[in-house]
Amino acid sequence: MKKITLICMSSMLITSASMNANTLENNNFKYSVDKFADIEILRYQVPDFEKLTLKQKELIYFLSEAALEGRDILYDQNNKYNLTIRRTLEAVYLNYKGDRESAEFKHFTIYLKRVWMGNGFHHHYSEDKFIPEFTAAFFAKAIKSIDAKKLPLGKNETVEKLIKTITPIIFDKTIYPKRTNQAQGVDLILTSANNYYGENVTQAEVEAFYDKMKDPKDNTPISYGLNSKLVKENGVLVEKTYKVNGLYSAAIKRIVSWLEKAENVAENAKQKEVIASLISFYKTGDLKTYDDYSIKWVKDLDSQVDFVNGFTETYGDPLGLKASWESMVNFKNIEATKRTEIISSNAQWFEDNSPVDKQFKKEKVKGVSAKVITAAILAGDCYPATPIGINLPNANWIRRDHGSKSVTIENITEAYDKASLGNGFAEEFMNSKVERQRAKDFASMTNNLHTDLHECLGHGSGKLLPGVDPDALKAYGSTIEEARADLFGLYYMGDPKMVELGLLPNNEAYKAEYYQFIMNGLMTQLTRIVPGKNIEEAHMRNRQLIAAWVFEKGKTENVIEMIKREGETFIVVNDYVKLRNLFGQLLAEIQRIKSTGDFEGGKQIVENYGVKVNQTLHTEVLDRYKKLNLAPYRGFVNPVYTLVKNEKGEILDVKVSYNEGYAEQNLRYSKKYSSLPNIN
Ligand code: ZN
Repeated sequence: MKKITLICMSSMLITSASMNANTLENNNFKYSVDKFADIEILRYQVPDFEKLTLKQKELIYFLSEAALEGRDILYDQNNKYNLTIRRTLEAVYLNYKGDRESAEFKHFTIYLKRVWMGNGFHHHYSEDKFIPEFTAAFFAKAIKSIDAKKLPLGKNETVEKLIKTITPIIFDKTIYPKRTNQAQGVDLILTSANNYYGENVTQAEVEAFYDKMKDPKDNTPISYGLNSKLVKENGVLVEKTYKVNGLYSAAIKRIVSWLEKAENVAENAKQKEVIASLISFYKTGDLKTYDDYSIKWVKDLDSQVDFVNGFTETYGDPLGLKASWESMVNFKNIEATKRTEIISSNAQWFEDNSPVDKQFKKEKVKGVSAKVITAAILAGDCYPATPIGINLPNANWIRRDHGSKSVTIENITEAYDKASLGNGFAEEFMNSKVERQRAKDFASMTNNLHTDLHECLGHGSGKLLPGVDPDALKAYGSTIEEARADLFGLYYMGDPKMVELGLLPNNEAYKAEYYQFIMNGLMTQLTRIVPGKNIEEAHMRNRQLIAAWVFEKGKTENVIEMIKREGETFIVVNDYVKLRNLFGQLLAEIQRIKSTGDFEGGKQIVENYGVKVNQTLHTEVLDRYKKLNLAPYRGFVNPVYTLVKNEKGEILDVKVSYNEGYAEQNLRYSKKYSSLPNIN
């Protein structure tokens, strides 16, 4: 559910020629844009944008403007000083007349780039505050050297006062150390740096406030607190709602005005209603209207253009109530969606033919329909770091009664793949030219297909025996569940049915996925583990579990080998057919554990295969990875959309271009889409 990040996917570090003919003609496209600290910034293409109708292009344009107008909201949600800090940094960056080649200024630039990446002064992924490598003395001098009118000064605020306010926030490790604190045993609200709650509001007060609102008998509850900041006024708790004429009004008004333009060029009546109810939600802040909008949105399956725009994900609030603002505009990739439709419409065949014991199979299975989309703009909490898949809405009762939309964002995964081409990873870790060539030819395709099988079929397959508690596997439940979905996909990737259905071009392609999966599970995913630690994350446990289990069970027949060459370890798969059989055997066993709620069985298999790390191999893998000097995190810049108009001002076309740099884009956004006060 919710966001699927790259971390959750099988290794995407290996690249391939494209399965998409439209991008092949563009093989001079430069994906990598910038690199600093632990970040690489990429660019993504929007294939087939030109093929959309003028009306669809206009719709995307208006929705994109609505997306970009929300940028400041997220900065402010992440910390109340983020906008003041960002604006001060940008003023210095644009107006500093001192030595721009000095080490101090270079460190300053890196810091500003990190602030853009984190939408504030915390790391986008770890959520820890990062400390600059320039000095506070340099910072003060630089600020004083520029025209005070360029600085984000409050009413009657002096430059001295501004420096005094933000310097400790930027440089002192102990102030606002963590954006969202999840550590146990402390007040999670008081110790989180973000801005969803006012000064001195405690966790106990928040819990009591919202518990009182909830009615346990309500079968269709609204998402209490989703779109407001809870503050104390004269000792009394009040919600300040994000809406027109409420909190963040200036930005929300602009979002609404672009949505109104979008409404006029909607693809159909249904979509028009979707946009209209979103506008109504922004105007009233009423969460019932929000649910109404979500239901309409989830039911609109006909429109090619689609979007997310609003207070959506609650990861940023340690109590999971308040939602950060985000937007993503996209359109359906019709060719690639055929793939998921083929899979879904054959769901029963896959269920009937799986190697699982008959008593654990579903008599009637319904494939989840998922679509493949092309992202056109990323914004708010989807920018610069972005998910590669989304499953919305989040309200459980809406999912239960009306379903959800699941999407994979293929032009983003493609950018990841392409940018990795020639980064040395495959050369370092793959056994030989044969595996590398196969990866080059097929890995992008097989990676996507494995994800589709995992999402559309794997999670939905099988059933529990009557009376089995769905939570019987407790802490091992999610690893077992992910293993089940991955194995279902792996088993079928090697089935001739894949070629028959046109999902793979030949009986060779699946080997790319098999090799990559085993190499990742046994070896290369260890690059994400800190030395001395074991594996904790469920997807990673699942991958090692599968790889280590088939490695051990196939030993007598030499199915997989780990060989050493000049002190370096390589994986060799000797027999892909037998490997597929082993995947099938493990799928049957994992399904048995799940269906019977066998807690002991689940615990044994996870603890024995999925958790412990071979320390010697781990050290070796980390050393080899370090040599490659790859950035562990990636963000994106957006394309730029421009209206082409005639003399009468009528829109003739919308052009997309890919020339904007990272700093250039963020500076433009700060200038053009920045309507909120420094402090909200
Ligand atoms: Zn999954």
